[in-house]
Amino acid sequence: MNFHVMTLFPDMINNAMGESITGRAIKAGYINVDAVDIRDFATNKHSRADDYPYGGGAGMVMQAEPVYLCYRHICNNIKKSQPVQDNIIHKTPGIRVIYLTPQGKAFTQELAAEYSKEDDLVFLCGHYEGIDERVTEEIVTDYISIGDYVLTGGELPALVMMDAISRLVPGVLNNCISAQTESFSGNLLEYPQYTRPAVWRGKEVPPVLLSGNHKKLAEWYREQSVIKTALLRPDLLEGAELTQPERELADEITGNRS
Ligand code: SAM
Repeated sequence: MNFHVMTLFPDMINNAMGESITGRAIKAGYINVDAVDIRDFATNKHSRADDYPYGGGAGMVMQAEPVYLCYRHICNNIKKSQPVQDNIIHKTPGIRVIYLTPQGKAFTQELAAEYSKEDDLVFLCGHYEGIDERVTEEIVTDYISIGDYVLTGGELPALVMMDAISRLVPGVLNNCISAQTESFSGNLLEYPQYTRPAVWRGKEVPPVLLSGNHKKLAEWYREQSVIKTALLRPDLLEGAELTQPERELADEITGNRS
């Protein structure tokens, strides 16, 4: 998986992605991160990539041309894509360009799974008041938000997305089962987790975890997932495939006895 990030703050991207699991995945070659500085494509002598908004108002707006030149540079680096011609400015077939914006569709685990199947993903990080609409109209294929709040820039949302997507790229997690049983898989939350010691400040781990009985363990995991989802995220249950006893258990917890 190749992540290409158009940003005014490439260090933010490189520093965060270089740590922990994603850092190891980069070193092992499972993912690649190319953070490209939009300022390098500014056409003025001060390398400014923003200007005052037409019509007035607070803040600055990122200019169309540096963003477009940066996009074209990235597209030309993606081997499978057709070279982008100087005079053509429209979406390049086959390349998903994700603009991080609070106005976009909500990012979910389902979308992370969909994106993890791509070879290349291009992220466009806005800053200040956003980006000149004319260039986003031309190059963006997906408008994605990480939640209904406004951040100072698209770098953190891009990092959130790349982190979630990377975990689903084969080889990135040591244990591939992990991603399949995690929260949101099958519209359920994951069961509770415990580690040593077996007794912590007088609290014991559930005895089934020490039983070595795999069948009982699997039943316990499933039941705990249903319970946790009913307690914390009952809204998910509607899309979950539950057996009749599981549905009754969930209903008992949520108070839904229809
Ligand atoms: N003026 C814009 C508006 O009201 O919709 C908000 C601009 S915000 C201050 C600057 C940049 O941060 C945006 O262009 C976007 O890239 C990013 N951003 C802020 N909040 C976000 C969110 N919830 N999800 C994704 N990106 C976000």
